[in-house]
Amino acid sequence: MKFIKNTKQRHIILNILTVSNVPQTAEDIYIKAILIAPNIAKTTVYRNIDSLFSNGIISRYRFDKDKYSYELNTNVHTHYLLCKKCGELTSLKKCPISNLENTILKDTGFNVTNHSIELFGFCKKCKS
Ligand SMILES: [Zn+2]
Ligand SMILES: [Zn+2]
Repeated sequence: MKFIKNTKQRHIILNILTVSNVPQTAEDIYIKAILIAPNIAKTTVYRNIDSLFSNGIISRYRFDKDKYSYELNTNVHTHYLLCKKCGELTSLKKCPISNLENTILKDTGFNVTNHSIELFGFCKKCKS
């Protein structure tokens, strides 16, 4: 059995996230990782995801109450709209609260450095 080095596992995870256009859950990442490296252990994948997250390399969203979805952390952050019926993810073109952050700074002196918002509802197809 070939032993896969830690850096290679991270590389696999980052590659999966690079080619995905929507955030992936740890389970999604694991399923894709075993296609690339069949010997990769689930715990290893999960551990690497945690460390990538705590190092700020990937960011996470909570679309589901007991699981997170991950994506690469880019300077341009995205907010997603999640349809509760069909599960479709739509991204917002602009951050809706960047102006609010300026107002908060002016009004309270509090400097907001980051935020995370997930918006839930029904998409165009499902709302009727
Ligand atoms: Zn829908
Ligand atoms: Zn934002």
